[in-house]
Amino acid sequence: MNESSLKKSLSKLKLGGMRYFDSIGSTNDEALAWAASGAKDFSLVVADEQTQGRGRLDRKWFTPKGSAIAMSLILRPSAPMRPHLSRTVGLAALSLADACQTLGLSPKIKWPNDILLNGRKAAGILVETVWSGVEADSLVIGMGINVSASSVPPAESLKFPATSIEEMLGYAPKREEVIQLVLNACLHWREQMGTDLFIQAWEEKLAFRGEAVQIQAGDEETTHGRLDGLEADGSLRLRDLQDHSVTVRFGDVSLRPAA
Ligand code: ADP
Repeated sequence: MNESSLKKSLSKLKLGGMRYFDSIGSTNDEALAWAASGAKDFSLVVADEQTQGRGRLDRKWFTPKGSAIAMSLILRPSAPMRPHLSRTVGLAALSLADACQTLGLSPKIKWPNDILLNGRKAAGILVETVWSGVEADSLVIGMGINVSASSVPPAESLKFPATSIEEMLGYAPKREEVIQLVLNACLHWREQMGTDLFIQAWEEKLAFRGEAVQIQAGDEETTHGRLDGLEADGSLRLRDLQDHSVTVRFGDVSLRPAA
């Protein structure tokens, strides 16, 4: 992948703009700065290598050269989208899942922000917001996708097992093609963001649905329950051991299968 091959692959998409880097600290940092200085809606930052890639709470996201996708998409929320901004991580997850599915894979969404292939993490999402007072001026959707097998971090450095598209598919698709699939799916799902269908589609793709899971939120006591589905705002709904409904909101929460 290089700037001209990427531009060619994305030529039919109406991007607000594109910035491509052979190497960058973090595509989200670049996109946040660009958004704050007036980037147009649907502008894209892509890098071949990320040296300071971030997960939630500044955990590290690994994006070695020539093997993975590090991209950040800038959205300027339209009036109809505004009431549904808490669903943005779902927009990203559905877009990634659709792209994987088009490639012949069976992705699952590990709520809130990871894509699993065969139970292993193959992509991660980090949504960040540029505020204008109390209003969201723009949203930055960061995505890291393990395309080639060499993008997968060493197992001993991970809390959750990882994989790549190549390991699951038997070959590595062109990264330009994967980016194009993700963006096309995003254009589709963003129009649906306020619908019940959006939540249903998101819910259908949830990993561990109907299964026993545990939730760890910061230092709090672990919550045990069966994964039930999603609330309208994208929060996770569990059934606890007493069969009570428990709502888990976004934040520093880690979802795991029950031990
Ligand atoms: P969580 O695992 O709690 O959902 P994050 O979503 O913040 O955490 O993702 C960051 C974590 O993902 C890192 O701490 C690291 O363990 C793992 N990780 C980093 N890079 C990759 C990668 N390329 N593929 C899979 N997992 C990764």
